Amino acid sequence: MNTLSSKTKQDYGSDPVSVRETDQYRAEYVHAFVQKWDSLIDWDARIQSEGSFFIDKLKERGCRQVLDVATGTGFHSVRLLEAGFEVVSADGSAEMLSKAFTNARSRGHLLRTVQADWRWLNQDVHQKFDAIICLGNSFTHLFNENDRRKALAEFYAALRHDGVLILDQRNYDALLDYGFSSTHTYYYCGTNVSVKPVHVDKGLARFEYNFSDNDKFYLNMFPLRKSYTTRLMQEVGFQKIETFGDFQETYRESEPDFFIHIAEKA
Ligand code: SAM
Repeated sequence: MNTLSSKTKQDYGSDPVSVRETDQYRAEYVHAFVQKWDSLIDWDARIQSEGSFFIDKLKERGCRQVLDVATGTGFHSVRLLEAGFEVVSADGSAEMLSKAFTNARSRGHLLRTVQADWRWLNQDVHQKFDAIICLGNSFTHLFNENDRRKALAEFYAALRHDGVLILDQRNYDALLDYGFSSTHTYYYCGTNVSVKPVHVDKGLARFEYNFSDNDKFYLNMFPLRKSYTTRLMQEVGFQKIETFGDFQETYRESEPDFFIHIAEKA
């Protein structure tokens, strides 16, 4: 296990907004954050808010074998297993994979886990898939363009010739264009955790996760513009990209909080 991630407190040093590193993700998801997230986010409520969107999109395309590259605590991997898909669950964080494995086991599933950083995915994953999912605003953890291109190229290579990548992201355009005044508090599946931006510039969106017991955690993320993400996908070789607005939170304003990109190879 990564020693940094086993800590209970996050450590961004004396100048948190200067922390803009792709490798930071392992240190951000400290044990306490991961445990707290899962004890307060009710999976049933998340199922309600998300509906069968991803399952429908995968079934429409005849997908059977799915690689979840951002497994996190296992929510989508378990959902897809229960919907009958064959799933391999990858993540770069040992802390996350261990939590996902336990979560799946408590629901009667044995996860096939692989610890793999997206930038070198195919060193650890040798099978080809019908679909790759990268969900829960995960791609935002990559802090430079080379890393984003490399990760997308690795996803592309791990897909069959007619495979599909489903990748979501927060709607950062509104945040970048209108700043803090336009931002609201996002509630995940009720009121147990609220999320708000505490710093935004064109290279960083720092969000605060405030739990109902007043514990606070932070994530430093790169604010991806929607058109930038789709351009990168095209440049890596994806032929057809459709973008949907999604509503994963129980509270939202008129603009979608999330975009979901469905990128097809053929
Ligand atoms: N998909 C899950 C969900 O929706 O609940 C988890 C999302 S969590 C916000 C982002 C996940 O991406 C974390 O588990 C993190 O470890 C993983 N991650 C971030 N950067 C990564 C990288 N470069 N390679 C592999 N995994 C990465």
